[in-house]
Amino acid sequence: MVNKKPTSPPCNEPPEAAQTLLALMHAQGEVARLSEREQLFSSLLDSVNAVLWAFDWESRQVLYVSPAYERIFGRPAGLLLADYNEWRDSIYPDDLEYAERSLAEVLVKGAVEDREYRIIDADGKVRWLSDKCFINQQADNNHRVIVVGMAEDITEKKQLEHELQHLATTDVLTQSSNRRHFFDCAQEAFDSAQREQTPLAFLLLDIDDFKQINDTYGHQEGDYVLQRIADTGKAVLRRGDLFGRIGGEEFAAVFPGCTPQIAQQIAERLQREIQRLGFTHDDQRFSVTASQGLTGITEADESVDNLFARADAAMYQAKRQGKNQIVIG
Ligand code: GH3
Ligand code: MG
Ligand code: MG
Repeated sequence: MVNKKPTSPPCNEPPEAAQTLLALMHAQGEVARLSEREQLFSSLLDSVNAVLWAFDWESRQVLYVSPAYERIFGRPAGLLLADYNEWRDSIYPDDLEYAERSLAEVLVKGAVEDREYRIIDADGKVRWLSDKCFINQQADNNHRVIVVGMAEDITEKKQLEHELQHLATTDVLTQSSNRRHFFDCAQEAFDSAQREQTPLAFLLLDIDDFKQINDTYGHQEGDYVLQRIADTGKAVLRRGDLFGRIGGEEFAAVFPGCTPQIAQQIAERLQREIQRLGFTHDDQRFSVTASQGLTGITEADESVDNLFARADAAMYQAKRQGKNQIVIG
């Protein structure tokens, strides 16, 4: 018997079983590759300290949220995926209206990148978020509007900005507005008063014989006097008034909405409160007085400089007339 050679498959073509095996191996390789990629994406998403999210606009459903959500918001992601109101509930109440309005703007603009608001995390801590959002360009077949976003915790950056702002605008010794900030705010108040045709009063205050206080009790005691006078100014002025230290022993105030006659009552109270401050140095008791120049805005005034010059002239007149008094100029 002659062994029949098995019929060989047509050249270049593997047998059917081999083909299936090859296809299987290919599929396995593909699965392994995909799973590797998924692991890579998943570990990337896990290490990014920003919340990536996707939101179905019509159904108001959160479709995806990355692991950083639980770290930053301190809430379980499952609850957010089940109910979008979880996001609304974590927003700082004063910022809720803005957060929702700016999210809706994405429909018109396609992207909203300068979106910052506060949330309250699970520990009750207020955190600042920068939450950029975009319309997903690859709309699916159902033409659903999917908004995607990236929320970063910018609390530390905000704190730093706040500290820098404080340093740039505050006088270190008295913790009142410094000269530049005072005049910036005074200019804004002046512009608004001119626009709305409302009164505004401007006051300059200079401590009397302050050099003598320094010379008699020392510079440190002089510093303390400046601090107490600044505190008195802040206590006497009303909310909305401006107050600042504009020179060594010179302070200024702006009273929006006040005629000089109304502001005079506040200046008189300031005058009395300053005089009532008692100081003791090495068993020596002393008190201080101040001279004040007060003026009000007129139609002819073109800038704060006009008011400042008139208040300064009035203040010097108070000095010439014997100090410890208020002159209206
Ligand atoms: P007048 O009643 O005319 O205003 O006299 P005065 O002595 O108050 O005014 P003068 O301008 O002669 O002196 C102001 C003094 O204020 C001189 C300066 O050394 C002092 N001074 C300025 N800045 C500071 C400060 O930050 N701390 C202290 N302790 N003294 C200061
Ligand atoms: Mg002075
Ligand atoms: Mg003085």
